[in-house]
Amino acid sequence: MDRYDAVVIGAGNGGLVAAIRLLQGGAKVLLVEKHNLPGGFATSFRRGRFEFEASLHELNDFGPAGNGGDVRDLFDSLGVTDKVEWVPIPDAYRVIVRSEGLDALMPFGKQAFIDKLESYVPGSRLSAERFFELGEQIRAAQAYTNSRNGIVDSSVMVKEHGNYVRTGSYSVNEVLESLKMPQKARDIINAYWCYLGAHCDELSFTHYVSMVIRYITRGAMAPKMRSHEISLAMCERIRELGGDIWFNTEAEKIVTGADGGVEGVILKGGRLIKTRHVVANCSPHVVYGRMMDGVPERIVRATNARKFAGRGFCMFLGLNKSADELGIENHNYFLYDTSNSAKQYELMKSIDTNSAQATVCLNRAHPDCSPKGTSLMYFTTLYMSDCWGDVKPEDYARTKEKVANMMIDRFERDTGSKIRDSIEEISVATPMTYAHYCGHPEGGIYGYESQYWDGLNPRLQMMAEDHQTRGLRFAGGYSMRLSGYSSAYFSGDITGRQTVGDIKKEG
Ligand SMILES: Cc1cc2nc3c(=O)[nH]c(=O)nc-3n(C[C@H](O)[C@H](O)[C@H](O)COP(=O)(O)OP(=O)(O)OC[C@H]3O[C@@H](n4cnc5c(N)ncnc54)[C@H](O)[C@@H]3O)c2cc1C
Repeated sequence: MDRYDAVVIGAGNGGLVAAIRLLQGGAKVLLVEKHNLPGGFATSFRRGRFEFEASLHELNDFGPAGNGGDVRDLFDSLGVTDKVEWVPIPDAYRVIVRSEGLDALMPFGKQAFIDKLESYVPGSRLSAERFFELGEQIRAAQAYTNSRNGIVDSSVMVKEHGNYVRTGSYSVNEVLESLKMPQKARDIINAYWCYLGAHCDELSFTHYVSMVIRYITRGAMAPKMRSHEISLAMCERIRELGGDIWFNTEAEKIVTGADGGVEGVILKGGRLIKTRHVVANCSPHVVYGRMMDGVPERIVRATNARKFAGRGFCMFLGLNKSADELGIENHNYFLYDTSNSAKQYELMKSIDTNSAQATVCLNRAHPDCSPKGTSLMYFTTLYMSDCWGDVKPEDYARTKEKVANMMIDRFERDTGSKIRDSIEEISVATPMTYAHYCGHPEGGIYGYESQYWDGLNPRLQMMAEDHQTRGLRFAGGYSMRLSGYSSAYFSGDITGRQTVGDIKKEG
C-alpha cells in the first residue's frame, strides 16, 4: 500500500479539492495532514459554550441555488454541495472610516448596490454601471484563460477580450479614475481590498473587479456549522471515492530522482511513500527550502522573489448578550483609519499603529450559531510586515492583550455598540499561532501577495513556466489563484486536473 499515483500534502481547502479531482480522474490518492483534523484554516474550535469559526467571513461566488456561482458549480461537480447546510449572508458589508465621516452599509445585488452607492454619492451611477460591465467582460476573459490552462491565443484575447487586455496591467485606482468614479464612491467600492491584502494603488484591477462582482451579483453564503463542515464534507467525499486520508501525518521530505523530479514522499518517522506526483498544499518556500534537496538555483531565486502577503491576527469573542441587546447591527464590518488603502497598508506594518479590522457577528447571518441570549464575533486584521517576529517571548502575552484591547476599543468607538462588559470567552490567534498551526512562514494567512508582476493574471498565464519540477504542483493560497477560500478551492481544482493530465501522459 506504500505506492500511490499521487500524494497530496496538506488537507487545507486547496489540498482537499485537489484530492477529489485526482480521484475523479481515476488516480490512487493519499492525502496526508499533519493535524488531527482537516481544513487548515477552514476549521472551527470550541471555547466554553461557543463554537467559533476559525476564518471564514463569507464564501464568495457560491450563491443560492438558482443563481449559483462558480464555487457552487465546482462543489456540485465535486459532489459536496448537498453535504453542507448553507445560510445566506444578509448584507455585503458595512464600511466605516470615522475620521472621514464615512459609514456605508452596502447590499448584495448589482442594481441594489449601484442604487445605494448613488444614494451615498450622487453622480456615481454611470461609473458604477461601467465598473460592473467591465467586471463581466473580465470574468469572461478569465474563463477563456482557464479553459486554455493559461496558454491563450493572443489574437482571440485582443479581438474578443479587448477590455481585459486594456485594463490588465493597471491598478484598481488607475482604472476607477479612468471610469471617472467620484472619490467617495471609490472609497466605498474599494472596501474589500483587505480581503486580497494588497492596496488599491498596486492591486490589479482585473483581480479586484472579478472578486467584487462575484460577491455583489451572487451574494455570499456560509456553512451553518462553520467552515469545518465543508472540510468534513470533502473528507467524506474523498473516502467515498476510495482515497486514503492519514491525519497526524506530516510529510517531511519530497524525494527526487536523477531528473530532479518526484519519486516519493518521506513521512515524519521515516516511512517512504512511493509516488511520482505530489500536490503540495503548503508554501513553495517550505517545500523548496526544507522538504527538497538539490533544488536548482533558478527555482530558489524565483521563489524568493515572491513577497509574503499579510500575517494574520484574529480575536474571537463569545458574548453573554444577544446581538440585538448589544446593538451589533451587521454581519460584516470593515473598520479603517483611512479610506486611502495605501496609507492604511503602511499603518498595518506596525503593531502599534494597526487596529484596522474586518469584523463579523455570525449571529446576523445565522441567529442560532450560539446559545440563546449570546452572540459570537471574530475580528481579523493583517500585518503587512513581519513585526510580530520582533516581539520578545516575555512580551508576547502583553502584546496580544494590547492588540485585543485596541480592537475592542476600535469596534466600540466606530459602531457605538458596547461589548467589553459582555465578554464571556476570548481567544486570540497571532501570526505565531498561524505559523504553528498551518506551517506558513511568518504566520502568513494569505499566501504570496498580489503584485503587478505576480498577480492573478500573470500567474494564470504563466502556469506552464511556473511548473518547475516534474511531478510537483502546488494548490492553495500560494498557488496560481492566490489566497482566499474560493481561490484556494479553484487552485485545487486546476492543480488536481493538471496532475491527472500528468499521470495520463506518463501512461
Ligand atoms: C482569521 C482568518 C480569516 C480569513 N478570512 C477569510 C475570508 O473571510 N474569506 C476568504 O476567502 N479567506 C479568508 N481567509 C483566508 C483563507 O482561510 C485561506 O486563504 C485558505 O483557507 C487557504 O487554504 P489553503 O488551501 O492554502 O490551505 P491552508 O489553510 O493553508 O492549509 C494547509 C494545510 O496543510 C497542512 N500542512 C502543511 N504542511 C504540511 C506537511 N508538511 N505535512 C502535512 N500537512 C501539512 C496544514 O496543517 C494545513 O492543514 C482567512 C484566514 C484566516 C486565518
